[in-house]
Amino acid sequence: MAKAADSKGDGRVDDFQASLLDRGVLVAQTVPGLCGRGDAFERVVSGLIALTRRIAAADGAERLAFPPVMSRAHLERNGYFSAFPNLAGCVHCFMGGPEDHRRLVGKLVCEEDVADEFRPSKVVLVPAACYPVYPTLSARGALPPEGALIEVASYCFRHEPSTDLARQQSFRMQEFIRVGSPEETMAFRDLWMRRAERLCAMLALPGRVEVANDPFFGEAGRDLGERQRHDALKFEMLLPAGPEGAPRACMSFNAHRDHFGAIWDIRRHDGEVAHTACVGFGLERLTLALFCAHGTELAGWPAAIRDYLGLELTGREDADALSGVIGELAHV
Ligand code: ATP
Ligand code: ZN
Repeated sequence: MAKAADSKGDGRVDDFQASLLDRGVLVAQTVPGLCGRGDAFERVVSGLIALTRRIAAADGAERLAFPPVMSRAHLERNGYFSAFPNLAGCVHCFMGGPEDHRRLVGKLVCEEDVADEFRPSKVVLVPAACYPVYPTLSARGALPPEGALIEVASYCFRHEPSTDLARQQSFRMQEFIRVGSPEETMAFRDLWMRRAERLCAMLALPGRVEVANDPFFGEAGRDLGERQRHDALKFEMLLPAGPEGAPRACMSFNAHRDHFGAIWDIRRHDGEVAHTACVGFGLERLTLALFCAHGTELAGWPAAIRDYLGLELTGREDADALSGVIGELAHV
């Protein structure tokens, strides 16, 4: 594992995470929990998405894509503001007229706080890639007998500013969502837990799966979390990806039972309320785990792992290989 040391809660990142910034794998930004991604990082993210899609290919998931913002009313109906108000991100916009604009500009000139000039819009930042999926399923009417399997990936936002590069405010999640009977959804969740164990072995990542709970807010939230653990509804794959190689949840395996089915009135072919389960890959954290395990230079990674992730082709080789009409386009 890459050398890691030196994060003692004093705000300093450890050697492993610092070396990612030094080498341009990640690009520091001024707000804690926001960073840019360099080419090497993005190549690994793309490789991971392609690899998980290959593993899932025979499942026949329907691929959907949503913007990283969604309806505020939908997030509210999903119960997010009750369960995780501290993590939510609401989009505020300037909605005033010319007079309000003059006041705003006046404040800007005087370097005053302008936060009051912005009002809540109808959109919020997507906190989990699967959230925009449930309302669309609801709109489809009864499901076919085989249920549904959806693949989705999105940038997600959670307001948890941190100097730990494994805890971003904005990060990508790739998810597979199974909608069907209680048995089908549990079998799907368990299938992906087995696949994830094998995937970690393949990528030489020292992972371990543990029962987990979502970080529900407040007093009542503690009970919800305990119940979730007791019923073994959520599991996480922990991998060294944090400061000093500390373990971080890099994938999650969630059984929602009929929570979303009931909220959105999603019905199976026989009229029963559908159950849902989702598996989520934290793409930034998985990528960090790979850099933590194999070092900050892609060239030094084991050949088999480079191969699984399709890292052999560099952008330059791609360009050299261009021919025909595309090649001509590149050189006009
Ligand atoms: P559910 O649908 O039950 O809310 P989910 O799978 O959609 O669950 P989480 O389990 O909360 O969502 O998160 C999925 C994955 O996203 C985590 O396993 C982790 O890898 C990644 N993740 C979560 N929070 C962060 C963060 N702040 N920074 C980077 N990655 C994160
Ligand atoms: Zn999910």
